[in-house]
Amino acid sequence: MRIVVLAGGIGGARFLLGVRAYAREVGAEVTAVVNVGDDLFLHGLKVCPDLDSVMYTLGGGADPERGWGRIDETWTVRAELAAYGAEPTWFGLGDRDLATHLVRTTMLTAGYPLHAVTEALAARWQPGVRVLPATDDRLETHAVVSGTGDEADRPGTGDGGGDTGQRAIHFQEWWVRYRARIDTHRFVFVGADAATPAPGVLDALGAADVVLVAPSNPVVSIAPVLAVPELRTAVADGPGRVVGVSPIIGGAPVRGMADRCLAVLGVECSAAGVGRLYGARGAGGLLDGWLVAEEDAQTVVPGVTVGAAPLRMTDEAATARMVRAALELT
Ligand code: GDP
Ligand code: CA
Repeated sequence: MRIVVLAGGIGGARFLLGVRAYAREVGAEVTAVVNVGDDLFLHGLKVCPDLDSVMYTLGGGADPERGWGRIDETWTVRAELAAYGAEPTWFGLGDRDLATHLVRTTMLTAGYPLHAVTEALAARWQPGVRVLPATDDRLETHAVVSGTGDEADRPGTGDGGGDTGQRAIHFQEWWVRYRARIDTHRFVFVGADAATPAPGVLDALGAADVVLVAPSNPVVSIAPVLAVPELRTAVADGPGRVVGVSPIIGGAPVRGMADRCLAVLGVECSAAGVGRLYGARGAGGLLDGWLVAEEDAQTVVPGVTVGAAPLRMTDEAATARMVRAALELT
């Protein structure tokens, strides 16, 4: 069996631990197609947060508490940068993590495409699944915002006295600096229209028995992957059945701020809301199956087979059971 997983960062990475465990059991081959919309340059270095979350998690090098970054991390360089007043100060890169960004940036500067760099980095981490960026091209998620972000914390104070014109900021600034607490009008996937899938992605989708949509953030992790036109078409028209797993349980994200992202789109924060956002294959959407948590068992998504199972990724075995339930759904 060939499985392709569309994934963001932490939720995607934890889900992939379960997919890998399941695949080892049954002898399946796994390709992860990972979001690059969060990628950015910091202090001259190319940082790929979701690829790194996947690589570190599958390679046993992720910090289990934080969920992102390296275990046993130290922060000497961050303190030194702060002493210089070097911007941006809202995004901290750990010392161990920095080595990844140094190697990546050196290779990119030498002309290697991102998928080749990712493969080279994976030689160290041995993730046990094939990890591909959705695209080698520039694709950045931006949030179109207005105001200063103060308004959200001081409701009723009008426009906050700041700039009320709309402007686009990088997703990481929106997420990390503003904690999504700023008037937000929409998300834009800059570069997506012209982006093509990274080498390997279309082949994997064309040979897939099943495409799993990880319980990642639908708005800022999965949507940017699907914003690559040929990639979306290859999923929607591909041979593999498509099964999504809900990141929303009982009307709330398990962690993170998916609720704030969904609100920007005017989509209800529920398993049904996200399922309908993805939509049914054949009706302009993607899904054949949608796996929701047991407490959301009543969920209806027109045209989609809905199943319920425990969806908390508490450990690898529990996550592997989730994966099995997703695969048995259709
Ligand atoms: P990020 O890129 O690091 O933000 O991570 P992702 O987009 O891949 O995943 C974030 C999503 O994972 C959030 O919307 C969470 O609700 C979801 N999530 C995290 N842990 C769990 C879990 O145990 N079960 C389910 N169903 N979803 C989870
Ligand atoms: Ca992310």
